[in-house]
Amino acid sequence: KFIALEGGEGMGKSTQGRLLADALRDRGLSVELTREPGGTPGAEAIRNLLLHPPGEGWGPQAEALLFAAARSDHVARLITPAVERGAWVICDRFLDSSRAYQGIAGELGDEKVKQLHAIGSDGLLPDLTLVIEASGHDVSDRLRQRDGDTSDAIGGRDADYHARVNRAFSDFAEAEPERFALIDGNGTIEEVHTRVLEAVAPLLGE
Ligand code: C5P
Repeated sequence: KFIALEGGEGMGKSTQGRLLADALRDRGLSVELTREPGGTPGAEAIRNLLLHPPGEGWGPQAEALLFAAARSDHVARLITPAVERGAWVICDRFLDSSRAYQGIAGELGDEKVKQLHAIGSDGLLPDLTLVIEASGHDVSDRLRQRDGDTSDAIGGRDADYHARVNRAFSDFAEAEPERFALIDGNGTIEEVHTRVLEAVAPLLGE
């Protein structure tokens, strides 16, 4: 099975990914916890180019192509082989991040992002995509806690860009309820984890 975790900055995706991976391992399942951009040596090298652009930064097309190239390597070398051997793959961000960031907020358009995904990764979709959504208050708390470590963010984006990203994720979830589960990301880590487990339960046959 293949599960993606999606959402804007500071929603708690990475923490929830780790907790979900632990919960699945406790059930005796084999789990690959991975992230985008990254997950393989080649894709991590591309991540580094995205986070630390040489020169004046990437234009919207080049940025989208780099994300698609990183995903192509990640899918071919890690995700597909893991799913084929029966492991559970939990991926921190996947296609829908490209749709929200590059497609909607970055204004490249949803169609172009989907075309790149069709070319790069045969249009592979997760079995379930969890969109974590929290209010401004909890999010700014989390972002403050990670303050000082801005090395993992792409710079030069304003609050309006991030608002468009957040809106795009909820629009995606609303448009395709069979593919997504919208998770309330407010409250304690344990409360959110319980909601994540409830959303994943059908895949586990629970
Ligand atoms: O999820 P994480 O914080 O590791 O993402 C690293 C950076 O890449 C963030 O700034 C995130 O907003 C950005 N990103 C992006 N487009 C994607 C995926 C991630 O701009 N498709």
